[in-house]
Formats: sequence, structure tokens, C-alpha cells
Amino acid sequence: MRVKVTLACTECKQRNYNTTKNKKNNPDRLEMSKYCKFCKKHTNHKETK
Ligand SMILES: [Zn+2]
Repeated sequence: MRVKVTLACTECKQRNYNTTKNKKNNPDRLEMSKYCKFCKKHTNHKETK
């Protein structure tokens, strides 16, 4: 059930993180606050394809 997803910064659109999620627990697009080294701060990161 686990799928690989890429997390992209919503401010600079850089893809900063690769992670996995459980499709059963998170059927929708993941969104989480993570540190972006390009923005040099914590920003929202969203799942991309
Ligand atoms: Zn950023």
C-alpha cells in the first residue's frame, strides 16, 4: 500500500523531499511543513507526481 511521493516547496516549487505514504491513510495529496534550503525557512510542501 505504500507509494513513493515527491514533496515540492509551495513557494519556490523546488522538489526537496522524497518520501513514502500509505495510500490507505493518506488518499489525498500530502501537505506538510518542512525546511526548504532554497527558501532558507520552513515552508509548506506538497506532494507532486
Ligand atoms: Zn522553497
